[in-house]
Amino acid sequence: MTLEFPAFTHLEQLTRQVGGPLAAELRNTVHTLRNQLHDARQEAERLAQAQADAIVNSAMMMSELQTARVDLEASNTVIQTMNQALQTALATAQENEKRFRLLSDAAPVGIFQIDQADRCIYVNTGLRRLLKTTETGKEADWRQWLAPNDQVTVLARWREAITQGKEFAHEFRILTTEGKLCWVLVHARPLQLNVNTWDGYIGTMTDITPHKEAEQLKDELVSTVSHELRTPLASLRGFTELMLERAFSPEKQREFIGIIQQEAIRLTNLINDFLDLQRIQSAKQRYDFTRVSLEPLLQEQLRFFSSEKSQHTFRISVDPALPFVHADADRLRQVLGNLLSNAIKFSPHGGGISLKASQEGEEIKVKVIDQGVGIPREILPKLFRKFFRVENADTRKIGGTGLGLALVKEIIEAHGGYVGVESIVGQGSTFYFTLPVA
Ligand code: ADP
Repeated sequence: MTLEFPAFTHLEQLTRQVGGPLAAELRNTVHTLRNQLHDARQEAERLAQAQADAIVNSAMMMSELQTARVDLEASNTVIQTMNQALQTALATAQENEKRFRLLSDAAPVGIFQIDQADRCIYVNTGLRRLLKTTETGKEADWRQWLAPNDQVTVLARWREAITQGKEFAHEFRILTTEGKLCWVLVHARPLQLNVNTWDGYIGTMTDITPHKEAEQLKDELVSTVSHELRTPLASLRGFTELMLERAFSPEKQREFIGIIQQEAIRLTNLINDFLDLQRIQSAKQRYDFTRVSLEPLLQEQLRFFSSEKSQHTFRISVDPALPFVHADADRLRQVLGNLLSNAIKFSPHGGGISLKASQEGEEIKVKVIDQGVGIPREILPKLFRKFFRVENADTRKIGGTGLGLALVKEIIEAHGGYVGVESIVGQGSTFYFTLPVA
């Protein structure tokens, strides 16, 4: 479309009226100017259109932005709510974890977790207490806890349980870091954290050593009762029956009553020793500790034992100015009584029996030395166990309960001392104990 510019039309009309070359040139210039103006106007229109479009676009964008802002605010609120929920969940999880640890560590049993690779990945305080360790991070190789003698059976049972995905329940011994054996009962069951997964085992370990010891004590008691009670009871019954059935001379009667009395004493001693030991071991024994002067006590005991008709020679040697000891005098009498009666019993052919007391540093050492049958070297470590008696032809004839030395050990240890023995078979034995200076 050709745009009309009245000023240019007027100029053209004028140039036509004027005529001549100048006018023609002017007309051409007017023509060019008209075209340029036309182009410029078109450009202006295009720009105006573009501007209008841009305004419309930006208005639309503004509206979209506004919508997006509203959406953003809404999602912000959702995120905040989710964040709060997450924080609460995290706090609950942390609280649960803390509660689990507190509970687990307060449990009186050991608790552990074994992963799929058969490594121990968790142990609680109870289990560390059992193993007598405070170290952490060394539990992965749990096989190191097993007592060497029980390893084969425990591992076979464990393999059987894990291959069949079954529960594991077994009693066995573990070796503590202090090298002590301890009986434990272990219960472990497969751990399933998600459906269709197997995540190893979780289990408990309970210390059953006291229970096992009580069981062992009961067995020993039964066997002692059957051996030690039966013999004196059988002779009590035999002699009383004999005396009831037949008439004997007064001398014979006296002899038999003497035997009955000896057997009754033996039974009383057995029962007393046993009750004493029970009382001491259940910590019900009360000690009346005072400052005790040892020499008069040793003299008194020696007088008591040497007054019996015996083929032994008794000697005493006490360091001059021996300090007082911190002890329960009655329990000390019991210790000396047991050691002296053993020295006499196990020297059936007589010989010397010496009582010695000397100071060694902060302690007093008391020795009871005899020249009796002696004790084989390999047996010495077992002597102070309950019910232990050396089994040989010499000692079989000599009665006893196997409780005397166990009592001596318990009493001396309760005084803060220790006991020991040295012996040579056929030459004699030296039993000693220590007491702290008062
Ligand atoms: P009991 O004397 O009642 O058998 P003990 O516990 O006093 O019990 O002693 C345990 C064992 O130690 C004895 O049976 C004996 O074999 C041995 N024994 C104790 N004292 C002596 C000793 N002086 N000489 C030799 N053996 C001894």
